[in-house]
Amino acid sequence: MDVTTLSIEEASALLASKQVSAVELTQAFLERIRATEDTVRSFITVSEDAALAQARRADERRARGETGPLLGVPVAIKDVILTKGVRSTAGSRILAEFIAPYDATVTQRLFEAGAVCVGKTNCDEFAMGSSTENSGFMATRNPWDLERVPGGSSGGSASAVAARQCLGTLGTDTGGSIRQPAAFCGVVGIKPTYGRVSRYGVIAYASSLDQVGPMAMSVSGCAHLLGAIAGHDPYDSTSVRRPVPDYVAHLGAGIRGLRVGIPREYFVQGIQLEVEAAVRAAIGVLQNLGAQVSPVSLPHTEYAIATYYVIATAEASSNLARYDGVKYGLRLGEGESLLDMYRRTRAAGFGTEVKRRIMLGTYVLSAGYYDAYYLKAQKVRTLIRRDFAQVFAAHDLIVTPTSPTTAFRLGEKTSDPLQMYLSDIFTISINLAGLPGVSLPCGFDQQGLPIGLQIVGRPFEEEKVFQAAHAYEQATVWHERTVDSRGSGVENTE
Ligand code: GLN
Repeated sequence: MDVTTLSIEEASALLASKQVSAVELTQAFLERIRATEDTVRSFITVSEDAALAQARRADERRARGETGPLLGVPVAIKDVILTKGVRSTAGSRILAEFIAPYDATVTQRLFEAGAVCVGKTNCDEFAMGSSTENSGFMATRNPWDLERVPGGSSGGSASAVAARQCLGTLGTDTGGSIRQPAAFCGVVGIKPTYGRVSRYGVIAYASSLDQVGPMAMSVSGCAHLLGAIAGHDPYDSTSVRRPVPDYVAHLGAGIRGLRVGIPREYFVQGIQLEVEAAVRAAIGVLQNLGAQVSPVSLPHTEYAIATYYVIATAEASSNLARYDGVKYGLRLGEGESLLDMYRRTRAAGFGTEVKRRIMLGTYVLSAGYYDAYYLKAQKVRTLIRRDFAQVFAAHDLIVTPTSPTTAFRLGEKTSDPLQMYLSDIFTISINLAGLPGVSLPCGFDQQGLPIGLQIVGRPFEEEKVFQAAHAYEQATVWHERTVDSRGSGVENTE
């Protein structure tokens, strides 16, 4: 049996019945990584030895009578999330050699649950991008078509799941970075409510928007992973003191009677016709399952991208000020003046997109422009939040496409940042409003590339989002189609 084709739950059952050990399971995934990594390139670091040591500990824990759905389950973690002893680069040259002295809270919680980390996944530098091409190390390829991007910024996390290099991953999502790559790679990914998951030890991009969330082949896999990482953390004051529901227990509750809003602003010109058709068909499936579907309006949607790129860059310019060559990471120009050292370090350490954002962010915060840009953007953000609050007064969920197109070609948008920014047009508002949103497969285009369906919920109602996603998943066959059935050649040929 090829254990790398299992779901988290299937693998977990085999571990529980001792038909497979955590070490055997981990070895199988490390083998799969060796067989596919030259073509896919999901990982900045593969941590074989650390993974096998963790797997041995998981087996010991089980031998002592411990149980748990993630005990011995191989996962991978986006490289913006700190892992003690294994380098965390955020996809940036400025942190190329950075080894964190502690684990992020999400890392620690996954490890306490017994998950085994096989490596750190590639991403756009500091999570700024939509294709993973902004990584300071390499581009990741979409396992469904190696000429295409996996999406971004958590592209390596999505490709690792799709290519069966691990059973689940963590990503981060500031404007779509979990959901858009999940859509492009045909996997499930959820951005939780702002405040649901701790960001302690997560390298910050835009702190009023960033959230950590899981990706897996199935909705239930994501429910298991989110259950492990969610909840208040005294080290992150933005994490909320609220009990974490048992997401897995809610999965079977179905969608009958739930009121689903379809925002008309999300079906606009420019959306790929096959995406629109697949999403409309998915809405029909939800209706057949008993959902009450009705059209709704989110009138300020057209301002979302502009608002986001003012707020996110402003926060980024402030967060990235800490990479100065003094505290950690790269240092160049030692022995010169302090200012020269800053300049040399930051000029060499940051890539083009990160520099563009630092400049934009510094500009919108500068005296004289602050009111015109930053303050104005905050006001528009409030209007966008209100749009959602109004719809959610009479609806349980909102359903939209995840991204207007399927995966684009490598290099197709790198010279046109605005085109790149537009691929997040349907995900960004959800971050501005702080809501939970999942993306799951809802079809394929004519070229066989996956299409994503986005389901958005009220704040802290992830269980309802999962419940609807699970009902849809169980009623459809999209999740059964895999990269291997397509034969896209992810295995190394030599
Ligand atoms: N593509 C968006 C950006 O570049 C979102 C990225 C993210 O969610 N981290 O800002």
